[in-house]
Amino acid sequence: MEAVGKPMRQFDRDAPALQADEVLVRVAGCGVCHTDLGFFYDGVNTMKSLPLTLGHEISGVVEEAGSSAVSWLGKAVLIPAVMPCGTCDLCKKGQVRICRNQKMPGNHIDGGFASHVIVPSKYLCVVDVADEKALFGKSGATLAQLSVIADAVTTPLQAIKNAGLVPGDVAIFIGAGGVGGYGIQIAASLGAHVVVLDVDDKKLETYSRFGASLTINPKTSDAKAIRKSIQSWVKEKAYNPFEWKIFETSGTAKGQELAFSLLTFGSRLCVVGFTMDSVNLRLSNLMAFDAQAIGNWGCDVSYYPEALDWIRSGQIQLVPFVQTFPMSEINSVFDRSHRKEIDQRPVLIPDF
Ligand SMILES: [Zn+2]
Ligand SMILES: [Zn+2]
Repeated sequence: MEAVGKPMRQFDRDAPALQADEVLVRVAGCGVCHTDLGFFYDGVNTMKSLPLTLGHEISGVVEEAGSSAVSWLGKAVLIPAVMPCGTCDLCKKGQVRICRNQKMPGNHIDGGFASHVIVPSKYLCVVDVADEKALFGKSGATLAQLSVIADAVTTPLQAIKNAGLVPGDVAIFIGAGGVGGYGIQIAASLGAHVVVLDVDDKKLETYSRFGASLTINPKTSDAKAIRKSIQSWVKEKAYNPFEWKIFETSGTAKGQELAFSLLTFGSRLCVVGFTMDSVNLRLSNLMAFDAQAIGNWGCDVSYYPEALDWIRSGQIQLVPFVQTFPMSEINSVFDRSHRKEIDQRPVLIPDF
């Protein structure tokens, strides 16, 4: 994985010629995701062989365009973390997230930890800001900060869609990190009663102000006790004791086991986090509870405008949960993120 450790190399290259449908985006900001750390530190393979520039949460401004993409010139954009081809059989069936010709920056193609990135233009998402310094709607966020929408906001949004979440549902989030945090806010805004489990008391305290109605630190009790305390809270509040929507957003084996142990009749368990570890489960519980387990790889590009709306209206708070750093500090930011020393989602801003 040595060459991945030089994520600045694209800066030193001449940009290759653009294909007709491609654009050259000057990066405004690129978020650092758990998945980047998995590629960099934990031996998760990237689709493109090395060398590869990581980074898939990208916002920026289109500086150059291929012959059929000139209408994008000068536009501020979000680059979706997973871009389908739009023309294959799977795409035609609407199965865009599993398109086998998909492009994920920092995985299939060079990503956003660079001054510029070349991407297909087809599914770029326009951000209606006057310029890079302008704040987006009521969000108080700059274009650079909005980069986290490309994964941390949209991936849990897709999971919430898959869960079929409706107002009045009990929604349980295991892990209040960069991705889970936005899921918590979206679920609460949609009228769910949100339960948050995290091993960090500070995060529980924070999310009790951002959508969580019940918080539990799983460090202090076992799965059975946790299940019981959620059940008695649900009973006391006269909420639906069944059909819980469970979101595994910790990306840990322990979190996955805990999520599975909370299944009830008609539950949907959404696997949002990623880990290389495996878990020991009695899969027949799905049958016994008539429950479903669902995973999602990124988010349909068609939901990006909705994610932008959540942020623009200020209903989902973004700024308190991101921290910007000069991109030249990438090595120390990666190191500190890997050691969980940065509470907010880091966004790297090119400073070269
Ligand atoms: Zn990611
Ligand atoms: Zn396709």
